[in-house]
Amino acid sequence: MTNRNAKKDEASGMTSSFLIPYSAFRIPVWVERKKIKHTHLSVFPPDARVHVSAPIDLSDADLRSFIVSKVPWIRRQIEIVLSQPRQSRREYESGENVYLFGKRYRLVVRKSDTAFDMRTEGRNIVMEGRGLETRDSREAQMIAWYREELKRVLTRIVAKCAEVAKEKDVTFEVRRMRNRWGSCNARRRRIAFNLALARVPVRCIEYVVFHELAHLAVPNHSVLFERRLRQLMPRWRDARKELNDFIALPLPNG
Ligand SMILES: [Zn+2]
Repeated sequence: MTNRNAKKDEASGMTSSFLIPYSAFRIPVWVERKKIKHTHLSVFPPDARVHVSAPIDLSDADLRSFIVSKVPWIRRQIEIVLSQPRQSRREYESGENVYLFGKRYRLVVRKSDTAFDMRTEGRNIVMEGRGLETRDSREAQMIAWYREELKRVLTRIVAKCAEVAKEKDVTFEVRRMRNRWGSCNARRRRIAFNLALARVPVRCIEYVVFHELAHLAVPNHSVLFERRLRQLMPRWRDARKELNDFIALPLPNG
């Protein structure tokens, strides 16, 4: 384990750890106790560190059986995280993997003198034309394209979900956010969505939309909030679980 990670453990108030079986080894699970209602498991890149946030009053025995029940999921996540390229910076060159709405595509870059164009073509995402000479210019095009694709999909999903929720005059924006998938300004009836949602399946985007719409009625994450969310999206837990699977993948720089 690197120094940087050791520091992070200290900062997060890690109180204990478990060992779980993995192939011939046993891998450590770092445990953080928090004032939360539900237990959350994560596998973080780049070294596939397994981390669990658990409610303060959950017993060690219950926590252990929860973790053991998740071993197949943990193994899958470890494999995904360790199979990612170690490079910290993407180059946006042909051959790199690009996720769009939960599907993996291969990036194809064609530098030419024609007008810029970007589109999906089968399992490829093609970026071609002028102005793709530098890494930064390719990244800017990638982010602009993600933003347009996400706005297009969100326009449809927000309208549909707002109708289900009987919420009127809701507007939204897409932003680059570090730690959250979305946020809701109930007074202005305005929702901000994380640009990184362009990478996750549409079902997960729907969950985030319903979650933020539920905040128009209930500002916090209380029992009332959960009741409201369940009313809007009965299977929201499945969608959140699927979204958590994507969190384990490195997020784009944007
Ligand atoms: Zn929330």
